[in-house]
Amino acid sequence: MNHTVSQRVQQVPASPTIAISNLVSQLKSEGVDIVSFSLGEPDFTTPDNVIDAAKASLDRGFTHYTPSMGIPALRKVIAEKVRRDNGLDVGAANVLVTPTKQALFMIALAYIDPGDEVIIPDPCWVTYDALIRLAGGVPVRVTTTYEDNFVIDPEKVAAAVTPKTRMIILNTPSNPTGCVQPESVIRAIADIAVKNGIIVLSDEIYESLVYEGKHFSIASCPGMEQLAITVSGFSKTYAMTGWRIGWVVASKENISVINKLQSQSISCCTSFAQEGAVEALAGPQESVRAMIDTFHARRDLMVGLVRGIRGLECKVPSGAFYVFVKYSADIPSVELAERLLQEAHVAVTPGSAFGPAGEGFFRLSYAASEEQITEGLSRIKKFMESL
Ligand code: PMP
Repeated sequence: MNHTVSQRVQQVPASPTIAISNLVSQLKSEGVDIVSFSLGEPDFTTPDNVIDAAKASLDRGFTHYTPSMGIPALRKVIAEKVRRDNGLDVGAANVLVTPTKQALFMIALAYIDPGDEVIIPDPCWVTYDALIRLAGGVPVRVTTTYEDNFVIDPEKVAAAVTPKTRMIILNTPSNPTGCVQPESVIRAIADIAVKNGIIVLSDEIYESLVYEGKHFSIASCPGMEQLAITVSGFSKTYAMTGWRIGWVVASKENISVINKLQSQSISCCTSFAQEGAVEALAGPQESVRAMIDTFHARRDLMVGLVRGIRGLECKVPSGAFYVFVKYSADIPSVELAERLLQEAHVAVTPGSAFGPAGEGFFRLSYAASEEQITEGLSRIKKFMESL
């Protein structure tokens, strides 16, 4: 029998973040008190009204397959949300309900052929590189800098375009930098996409977590109707990471292409999770606002504490729930993260996990309580100042 792993999978490197999370689990199981700033999910539970709606759905026996595109009630409220908040002229026919990460994989498979180039910002979320490679594509990184607050330079994007460029991936607010790309930059990228006929995959999963400035969707730019494919979801806004549910908004033609992959893979999203998700969008939004306020206060606390540590600096990130910290010590970020975990018992994510431009940084998530933030940063301070 031949157990050779496909070349497609072989060329995707193992995630350096896995090493850290394995170590976290091991140390925790040994009873070590770890402060974790490596979480990529809200530490709140899903709002009660959403949980109740899903329970009621189960009690009614809503436990079967749904249409692959999603239940009509959910597609309708997502379209309303996108029209209202993102300014897109769309209806339910432009919406596909699917877990956000699944959406990204399906879009990569649907539009990237072997050898196609895909422009991504550097640093960026770890999964983009992997999914481009799995589809046979070639990631082309456009560097963003700490000095520019990680704002993308459209001229660098234009310079990276070749006849092989098939797609640009945008992520605003950004994981890992927290940067909210300004509208002017997004408009300039839309101009490049329209001029060259390039698809833009816009990952807007952190769209509701914006503390300064305003979230702007590239799909609302002129000429982007067929080129923009927007993904977002319930995970971060409604603390629903375990529900595995989100959406794609695109032209009807693009939605039908992506739905082909949905129908041949997961078939549909979990039925009762979809009914819970209707309540998330249609029900009261107080808990979302409270969560945003809490994140905002934690961000300010964390930035203040980071800036009080010799050898560390950070910008004020305008969105998401991450602070991307620059350090002056001459140590690779993977090694620094390992030592912070082993010696200071604080889990952080090494910046190099997000691309070469992330070297010299580590990512802190403030999806952690104020007590944990204070304790964790005091441990980091002691450690950094002992180097
Ligand atoms: N995009 C980004 C930028 C993310 O950070 C994440 C989650 N870490 C996702 C997409 C995936 O979201 P979900 O878990 O809802 O599939």
